Amino acid sequence: MTTLTFDSLNPATGAIVGSHPKQGPDAVGEAVGRADEAAAWWAGLGHGERRRRLLDYKAVVTQHLRELAALVHEENGKPVGDATLEIVLAITHIDWAARNAEKVLGRRRVNTGMIGLNLAATLEYLPLGVVAVIGPWNYPVFTPMGSIAYALAAGNAVVFKPSELTPGVGVRLAELFAESVPEHPVFQTVTGLGETGAALAGDPRVRKVAFTGSTATAKRVMAACAENLTPIVAECGGKDAFIVDADADVARAADACLWGAMSNAGQTCVGVERVYVVDAVYESFMRELSDRVAKVRAGEDYGPITMPGQVDIIKRHIEDATKSGKVVTGGPGAVRAPYVDPVIIEDVPEDSPAVREETFGPTITVRRTRDAQEALQLANASAYGLGGTVFSKNARRAMELARMMRSGMTAINSVISFAGVPALPFGGVGDSGFGRIHGADGLREFARPKAISRQR
Ligand code: NAD
Repeated sequence: MTTLTFDSLNPATGAIVGSHPKQGPDAVGEAVGRADEAAAWWAGLGHGERRRRLLDYKAVVTQHLRELAALVHEENGKPVGDATLEIVLAITHIDWAARNAEKVLGRRRVNTGMIGLNLAATLEYLPLGVVAVIGPWNYPVFTPMGSIAYALAAGNAVVFKPSELTPGVGVRLAELFAESVPEHPVFQTVTGLGETGAALAGDPRVRKVAFTGSTATAKRVMAACAENLTPIVAECGGKDAFIVDADADVARAADACLWGAMSNAGQTCVGVERVYVVDAVYESFMRELSDRVAKVRAGEDYGPITMPGQVDIIKRHIEDATKSGKVVTGGPGAVRAPYVDPVIIEDVPEDSPAVREETFGPTITVRRTRDAQEALQLANASAYGLGGTVFSKNARRAMELARMMRSGMTAINSVISFAGVPALPFGGVGDSGFGRIHGADGLREFARPKAISRQR
């Protein structure tokens, strides 16, 4: 007999955190049907009332901050402080989406540009209907809320399929929404494994899928969406590069590199995984970085590896990299499942898995380059293109390098600082996916432009 429920486990202790139904196509279909009805009601409320309800939801989530952070800590393993930070960022997104939806999506007059025709025109962005959000476990609140808040603010109903590793907090986010919007199930969750996500993506009543997860799964989701021509926004993996130019403040760069690579145990789509340092500052940067890394403790400064299978990938990458690279810190002995100590390996061949594939652990490869141009070339040689970093005191040069980096976002003299900013679009190129969440682009991603022309 097939199991009808699955357990979420604390990755640090193995203890059961919660038990959730494995929802199959029937249950998923029922949720989508309810969402379809709720969507019409929610769309009819208009921008003003939706804004009021969403700001109320923001207040409710804020009231439950401690409870949600404790749940994220249990299901994902990250320290409570880190869990709190991601929820605060999610709250910022709810606020921004609520306050800006009307400005970005509301009806406006358009100058038609038609010479000699007395034509008036308006443009507005209307809701799509039901939006499916399929989420990962690494930032189980912040990441999906970057789609959910914007989809709701744009007037859609949402069916959210949280990761099977972190279902409890996803369910709770939807339960709390019902406190602000009790009338109709505008925001629901369905729980289960990949099959549940596949049933959701393949439902013809879903008008858009917002997927965040691995590149391999994105391809399967796209295949399911192809059947109904359902559009998708795909936020996938990354292999972010970190460039340190000859005139960089190496102490600040080392601080940023440490945080970008090790926080959340490196389980961050925009985490630093490849570091390219210009020859002139190589030794000093490595000294600064090694000093900092020596003080970091897995299990104290960051949590365990959340997904058991990921430990094997991290181990494989480290073992492979040490064959021809030079271990600065860590090495294969750093893997003490479910924890992985910080790992820095120099001179790893650019075609090795540790440089080419997403590692998703507290590990970096470091390479010395002749100049920033060579660093940029190597940075851009990746199949991925999500985020990246440039450290340089020369503002013009830094801007030039940042613009030429093949990524959706680049931070100058900081790291990952583009990710929490609600006004900036978030997304990648190549294997990192397509489409944008957050900001005005993120709102438009969940709406359809409606053009109306009128002959005067
Ligand atoms: P994953 O691809 O294994 O799973 C993501 C979600 O997809 C889960 O909810 C899963 O149940 C569901 N799923 C699995 N198979 C499915 C199918 N056939 N159809 C529909 N849904 C299916 O990813 P993960 O391990 O949960 O997350 C880690 C990955 O997410 C990393 O690659 C990371 O870089 C990426 N990520 C990207 C971003 C971003 O914004 N670009 C943010 C966070 C994480």
